[in-house]
Amino acid sequence: MPVLNVIAETADACSIVLGVPEELRGRFTYRPGQFLTVRIPDGEGAGAARCYSLSSAPGADPTLRITVKRVKGGYGSNWLCDHVRPGDTLEVLPPSGRFTPDSLEADLLLFAAGSGITPVISIVNALLAGSAGSAVLFYANRDEASVIFAGELRDLAASAPDRLQVVHLLESLQGLPTVASLAALAAPHAARDAAFICGPAPFMDAVGEALGSLGMGRERIVMERFHSLSGDPFAAVENIPEESGAADSAQLKVALNGDEHLLEWPTKISLLALLRARGLQPPFSCEEGFCGACACRVLAGETKMLCNDVLEDEDLEEGLVLSCQALPMSDEVEVTFD
Ligand SMILES: Cc1cc2nc3c(=O)[nH]c(=O)nc-3n(C[C@H](O)[C@H](O)[C@H](O)COP(=O)(O)OP(=O)(O)OC[C@H]3O[C@@H](n4cnc5c(N)ncnc54)[C@H](O)[C@@H]3O)c2cc1C
Repeated sequence: MPVLNVIAETADACSIVLGVPEELRGRFTYRPGQFLTVRIPDGEGAGAARCYSLSSAPGADPTLRITVKRVKGGYGSNWLCDHVRPGDTLEVLPPSGRFTPDSLEADLLLFAAGSGITPVISIVNALLAGSAGSAVLFYANRDEASVIFAGELRDLAASAPDRLQVVHLLESLQGLPTVASLAALAAPHAARDAAFICGPAPFMDAVGEALGSLGMGRERIVMERFHSLSGDPFAAVENIPEESGAADSAQLKVALNGDEHLLEWPTKISLLALLRARGLQPPFSCEEGFCGACACRVLAGETKMLCNDVLEDEDLEEGLVLSCQALPMSDEVEVTFD
């Protein structure tokens, strides 16, 4: 994906603007709040991958923009901020993630801290650009100089004062936000349709507790936790030998991209790894059970997931599973991605 521009946002954060080639437009359609997975090369030819939320908004920006804040001692964030220049090319996976409102007609309560503003400003921009929804945003930072998108937020709030309210919380002035102070701020807005929270773990936990104390149920709260991937979704596809009729395999029927396939599914191989090894193109991103990009629906038979950090109880009741974590638990399994 070509890098069109690199913008210094604060002393330790930059935005990288990516152009989407015409032939990739369909695959790179996204919802506000979703993220890209970026390949970070290293000297030995191997690589690492890191997720970055899109700070651009569909309907408002023709290009894609990610915003990276340096993490002290961190590999990927510093590599991106130090090395990426206009004219470079970045290898990225298509957008995914579930930190996105069901409807942009909603009245939202938004909490962001530090680089947690990136998916949140995408939601704000999409909301203001294409709907009648509204947002109240509480945005916490260390001090004024570390506020990413200060000017953009000021302009947005000025352009739609009846639909966007931004409240800055500066540690340098008010100290760290506490459960009690957050609950007091959120109280007048607790009846809003949904709350979205993104920032460092202690901040998110404090906001979650504050909203809980106001009676806001978990079903109305969506959180995005930032962390680094440990695997490498850009690595070569695993080789899985075909052993027809093997005792430790299930019979799999899978509907994917409009076609149906019958495959032997070895019991210790994840569904995603199997499909990729057979040359199919299922959707995926993190491969660690938190992004939800690879979810599919089990129509018959049983599976189990090794890890699930994203699907809620109601998703599981509908038969959704993460294919990167799914193993077969019955002799025959039927799933659909379509
Ligand atoms: C869905 C999602 C969206 C995200 N969106 C954004 C975004 O919009 N903007 C953004 O800036 N970030 C975002 N992140 C976070 C981002 O993916 C990276 O985790 C972040 O940039 C840090 O990566 P890094 O490679 O610089 O740090 P890493 O190299 O992963 O290191 C992280 C920390 O761990 C320490 N560390 C590393 N290795 C060790 C070790 N062996 N022992 C002890 N300590 C160690 C480092 O010193 C550093 O403090 C997102 C993450 C997710 C999952």
